[in-house]
Amino acid sequence: MESMFNIKGKVAVVTGAGGVLGGSISSSLMKAGAKLVAMDIRQENLDNRVQELKQIHEDVIGVAGNVLDLDNLKKLAVEISEKWGSIDILVNCAGGNIPGATLTVDQTVFDMKIEDWEKVTDLNLNGTVYPCLAFGEVMAKQGKGSIINISSMATYSAITRVPGYSVAKTGVNIFTQWMATEMAQKFGEGVRVNAIAPGFFIGDQNRAVLINPDGSYTDRSIKVLAKTPMKRFGDISELNGAVQFLCSGAASFITGVILPVDGGFTAFSGV
Ligand code: NAD
Repeated sequence: MESMFNIKGKVAVVTGAGGVLGGSISSSLMKAGAKLVAMDIRQENLDNRVQELKQIHEDVIGVAGNVLDLDNLKKLAVEISEKWGSIDILVNCAGGNIPGATLTVDQTVFDMKIEDWEKVTDLNLNGTVYPCLAFGEVMAKQGKGSIINISSMATYSAITRVPGYSVAKTGVNIFTQWMATEMAQKFGEGVRVNAIAPGFFIGDQNRAVLINPDGSYTDRSIKVLAKTPMKRFGDISELNGAVQFLCSGAASFITGVILPVDGGFTAFSGV
């Protein structure tokens, strides 16, 4: 059974590895024996993360870079395959809300600045599409690999205040299905593309809308928990099993799925 989930020696790229979820996923992949390329746009977060990951084992490389720079991603893909021989896993964690694109409780959609709409849709949609193109091309040539995109609860029904984020993550869902189809039809069944739709976890990009400065829950948090049958936020470690499952041989016939990891949020109507 253990061997079905084995990813020892696989080469994984995690974007947004300096962040909360990307950090936990990176650490879990390395503990399972994967070699890791940790990428993030924020140098300081990345440096701290790489120091932390080196305690697990030495096969980790930190790369400061932007997921919206396709040329640079393509160069990185070549460098990694030359150094480590393959790219087996891509987890697209870079993304999240940006302050200007999250409407305040007093704003309506007509107050939204179009520059902020463009920034948040660009980061969350193209910031996933471009790494899929750069690293996915290496996987297509190898005839094997597993891509895991990070979707959101904001793609099943409307979540107030985050229109751009919701639209972009919904784009990630259909791109995941589209890319899964393209890979299997044109490059064989070895390259699989799936997504995880996390429920609510406290990350840097959403902390301010979920937790008040005094540490208590915001009104929004209270609404989230009321619609979550398990009545709690996710612990960041609770995405790791789903990631390892999807990128292991245990999921060899699974491609194009969007797997909610959400304490029942999507299952429950709220009534
Ligand atoms: P986070 O803010 O802690 O981490 C995101 C990381 O992405 C940061 O380290 C940031 O520096 C990096 N990043 C941002 N722009 C980048 C760019 N252009 N290039 C490279 N790196 C960049 O957020 P998180 O909560 O860990 O979220 C990770 C992913 O999970 C995001 O896509 C987010 O939308 C998604 N998600 C989070 C939750 C949640 O509840 N936390 C729920 C659903 C989905």
